[in-house]
Amino acid sequence: MNIDSKGYMDYVAKVARRLADNRDYVTELDSVTGDGDHWVNMDLGFRKLLEQRPALEALPLGELFKKIGMLVMSTVGGSSGVLYGSAYIKASQAIGQRESLDVPLLADVLGAMLDAIMARGSAKPGYKTMIDPLHQGTEAMKAALAAGKGDRAALDALRAGSIAGMEATRAMEAVKGRANYRPDKGVGHLDPGAVTMSYQLDTLADCFSA
Ligand code: ADP
Ligand code: MG
Repeated sequence: MNIDSKGYMDYVAKVARRLADNRDYVTELDSVTGDGDHWVNMDLGFRKLLEQRPALEALPLGELFKKIGMLVMSTVGGSSGVLYGSAYIKASQAIGQRESLDVPLLADVLGAMLDAIMARGSAKPGYKTMIDPLHQGTEAMKAALAAGKGDRAALDALRAGSIAGMEATRAMEAVKGRANYRPDKGVGHLDPGAVTMSYQLDTLADCFSA
């Protein structure tokens, strides 16, 4: 179970399709608690990456992550652009010279992304953001690996944790982001950024399992 640069761009294409299939749903969620542009922001970023697929696939994995971070940072507006951009740039350092992701390295990459997003947005788990599925999924995955469970169990833990983290945002009061400006702090509604983060983590687990 390994994913190299070409495999990672296959993953990017799968996420782009998953986003396309959920355009109205994600837009509706961000219209309720935010300003309605989250789907457009994410779609723009993934389409930009796919436009450059041949050049990106040819990069060593660490360079690929760095380049994705820079492209996302420069093309995607809103909070998501800066947060995902920082996440990919920090993850490229965790990858270093490694040519492919295996499951333990994936856990380190997700941990680096989590740290970068929390630092850049001054936010923590429980704030009703994209951090919640990433945090819960990564923690569950790391716990499975630390307990000596195999790759498949670790990926299942990532998937289950990220879905639980996404679902948990429904009951949370927003501390950061636009939902925080609402009188109800978004309580009763899923966070759109948490939903698209869980799509990415779920697709990642699929790509490893394939
Ligand atoms: P904007 O909020 O600037 O319009 P987007 O609509 O693209 O940007 O993204 C909104 C999502 O970004 C939210 O649903 C939330 O998950 C995430 N988000 C917003 N602010 C933060 C933050 N400070 N830390 C982590 N995630 C955040
Ligand atoms: Mg928005």
